[in-house]
Amino acid sequence: MSDYDSVSADIETEEEIPEEHPRYQDLLTRHRIEAGVEKGITHLQGMHAEGRGSAFDYLLGEETIPSADAAERAAAAHLLLADRPVLSINGNVAALVPGEMAALADAVDADLEVNLFNRTPDRIEAIAEHLREHGADDVKGLEADARIPNLDHERSKVDADGIYAADVVLVPLEDGDRAEALDEMGKTEIVIDLNPLSRSPQVADVPVVDNIIRAVPTITEHARELADADEADLRAIVADFDRERALEAAEERIRSGDL
Ligand code: ATP
Repeated sequence: MSDYDSVSADIETEEEIPEEHPRYQDLLTRHRIEAGVEKGITHLQGMHAEGRGSAFDYLLGEETIPSADAAERAAAAHLLLADRPVLSINGNVAALVPGEMAALADAVDADLEVNLFNRTPDRIEAIAEHLREHGADDVKGLEADARIPNLDHERSKVDADGIYAADVVLVPLEDGDRAEALDEMGKTEIVIDLNPLSRSPQVADVPVVDNIIRAVPTITEHARELADADEADLRAIVADFDRERALEAAEERIRSGDL
């Protein structure tokens, strides 16, 4: 048994996770999801989603592969070009990257909107508060005064001046039905999901196959670097990005088992 084997069960705060641990990112992610469940912002289902993601991340080598970095740059360009960009937040996203999403919203001048699969007023309020504690100024999703067509009632609720009116939406860890329905509304959709075969990245204009804890800070870095770029340069980045190639590259990396 290695010194590290008992680490995950004993961790109470994130600072206790040794950064040199070979599975550091995985332990950090698991810890944040567990803390999210305890805080009432993440649904128990979120733990299963995390487990699926963790397996794919292991196969990707727990690193941002070059095709994911290209997708992150294209995502930044789309968000900078957008008239009404919105970043969608669910329970796992809030638990894993609250401050990082607030920083991205700031860098690209986007709104943050809480959008839940298992929607309850208490969870929405807890997530909005958690985001504010991590630097978000304004959080949408509490009004829920518009509906995404072709989805059942609870899952279709969005803000009329938020996701409903957005031209570009970032939907990390999104469920397949809602990703398809947003696609049918004609929105430019950026999806972050570690499984390239899942329906959400399959319908995305920009599928980012990377762990959200790496992807969001990288999109922000690209956005800051591109902040003064000409519109023509941003459009060229968007045009050069090939979604099929990005999905294939991720699948190839996962299937090759070259760890
Ligand atoms: P579908 O999109 O076909 O409905 P699913 O049922 O597997 O697929 P969900 O459970 O709704 O999807 O969402 C979980 C998805 O989020 C999984 O595809 C999983 O790989 C991905 N995921 C989980 N954790 C992370 C993470 N930390 N970073 C990026 N993606 C993640």
